[in-house]
Amino acid sequence: MVGSPPKCACERGARNTPRAMSNALVMAFSTWVAFAQALVAEAIAPSTCAACDGPIKFRTMFCGTCAASVVKTSEAEPDSDDPSGLMRHYAAFEYGGAMATAIARMKYNRRWDLVARFGTLTGQYAAQVVSGVDVVVSVPAHARRIRERGFDPSALLARAVAQHLRAGYAPNALRRLRDTPPQASLSRVARRTNILDAFECRRPLRLQGARVLLVDDVRTTGSTIAECMRVMREVGAADVRSLVLARAL
Ligand SMILES: [Zn+2]
Repeated sequence: MVGSPPKCACERGARNTPRAMSNALVMAFSTWVAFAQALVAEAIAPSTCAACDGPIKFRTMFCGTCAASVVKTSEAEPDSDDPSGLMRHYAAFEYGGAMATAIARMKYNRRWDLVARFGTLTGQYAAQVVSGVDVVVSVPAHARRIRERGFDPSALLARAVAQHLRAGYAPNALRRLRDTPPQASLSRVARRTNILDAFECRRPLRLQGARVLLVDDVRTTGSTIAECMRVMREVGAADVRSLVLARAL
């Protein structure tokens, strides 16, 4: 069944100034163009289930069977290292079931179509739960991993999130200095050593005083995200929160 396109800004009560009305018209036009493109694309090559390639309904990612194993998260988690209690970690889904299968296909099978669909999903989630973001940054992959996979999933998710939040996007703000072993394979102590000083900030001026949202595909131990946040705080980011597609904690 074909769903309804999202409401434009004017329907959500934007201020009635000429500039706001102009922006609302542009947004409404862009929304309808995107909706029409989705309809045409769906007619030419219908999307299939992200986990099993079975048939799905329009604008969904999973078939009914796979969707039964997909769990949305309910609340953002506070940062345990933040004494103010204001820092938050957001996750759109729990990692597991069909979601884990689909993410693995996206990352290791060069499924660009899944990156685009997960980007939309993550962006829509971000727009619902996060506000007050100046710039979106992704957890960087090592250059060797990017060459192997052909793309950087986290960077593409971050770009989609920035678009949905109408925030800035700084794809190269952080750089991974070392290609570290997977965190999940290590003990708690080894994780901190493994990831310590694995990143550097390449654009400190872009982050100074900024409210930053750090985006990754999956949060497993949390050590990688914590280290990226530490590096950005060191260069003067005013507020750093994180958002992932799925959390495995
Ligand atoms: Zn399925």
